[in-house]
Amino acid sequence: MVGEIEALIRRDGPITVAEFMRRAVAQYYAGRDPLGARGDFITAPEITQVFGELLGAWCVECWRAMGAPERVALVELGPGRGTMMRDMLRATASVSGFRPSVHLVETSQALRERQRGIPAKWHLSLATLPEMPMLLLANEFFDAIPVQQFVGAVERRVTAVDGGLAFIPAGEGNIVERSPERVDLANQIARRIVTHGGAALIVDYGYVGGSGDTLQAVHAHRPRDVFADPGGIDLTAHVDFGALADSARGGGARPWGPLPQGAFLSRLGIEARAARLIETATPDQAMLIRSGCRRLIDPREMGTLFKVLAITRSGDPAPPGFEDTP
Ligand code: SAH
Repeated sequence: MVGEIEALIRRDGPITVAEFMRRAVAQYYAGRDPLGARGDFITAPEITQVFGELLGAWCVECWRAMGAPERVALVELGPGRGTMMRDMLRATASVSGFRPSVHLVETSQALRERQRGIPAKWHLSLATLPEMPMLLLANEFFDAIPVQQFVGAVERRVTAVDGGLAFIPAGEGNIVERSPERVDLANQIARRIVTHGGAALIVDYGYVGGSGDTLQAVHAHRPRDVFADPGGIDLTAHVDFGALADSARGGGARPWGPLPQGAFLSRLGIEARAARLIETATPDQAMLIRSGCRRLIDPREMGTLFKVLAITRSGDPAPPGFEDTP
């Protein structure tokens, strides 16, 4: 069966990798909730509530450093099932004076359904966010934003061949990825923070420095060929944290890190948080909390590949976890 994207390429000719990714990701998320053990992939907030609870505490600390403003927006980009936001709101509900207005940036109708019940306003982009101090979080959001690929000066495209799709040029030579869209998002975040105050935290799998080809497809927790089922399987590319940091700096803000996720969560006190939860947990729950937290910080699992970049105003104190980063 020829899918929508392949049909388009057969009709109109090759499209860039970025255009292919944009169409594949939009189609993929539009009609499904891919998260969880039975879905295609699992994310930190779906692994353990401790993740959202620690990020909630991170937000409160940043808010205090801002002078505890009465009006503050709590913003999440690509909230998925809304699990992290629910965990953050529950963990911060008893903090006196912290009553943020909640804003979710989400394009998927299927996932907006899953986010229902959160007392939030929904947005299609950052453009409509309120003009006020904000605490912004994005977990596994940037990896879904399209990348361009280049072989030398030539932008790679996707063409139709006998029996499916293929890259032109093919994989010979060094592939370099670039993402003007991600860079622009980081710049928008930075400019809002410079204008209104606040802090942002970007968590994702990625690198600093050179990459090569990181386009990857996943289905049912297994890697698949990127052309196996365009729009039907998850398609992402690793995040260039150096490029995001440069863009934040270019917007007049101060980037911090990136730190490996394991180091960041350890500094936020993941062990103590887990121990406290385990005190009142059943043995089964305790086992899940322990294994979940280990998965987030173990270098062989998510501890090193996943990285955390913070953005503040230049001149602001280091946000929690980033105290000794240059
Ligand atoms: N942050 C969640 C979900 C990650 S999946 C978690 O950690 O579990 C990626 C999320 O980004 C989904 O909610 C998806 O619908 C959303 N998304 C993807 N592309 C988007 C875009 N261009 N604009 C807004 N949201 C987008």
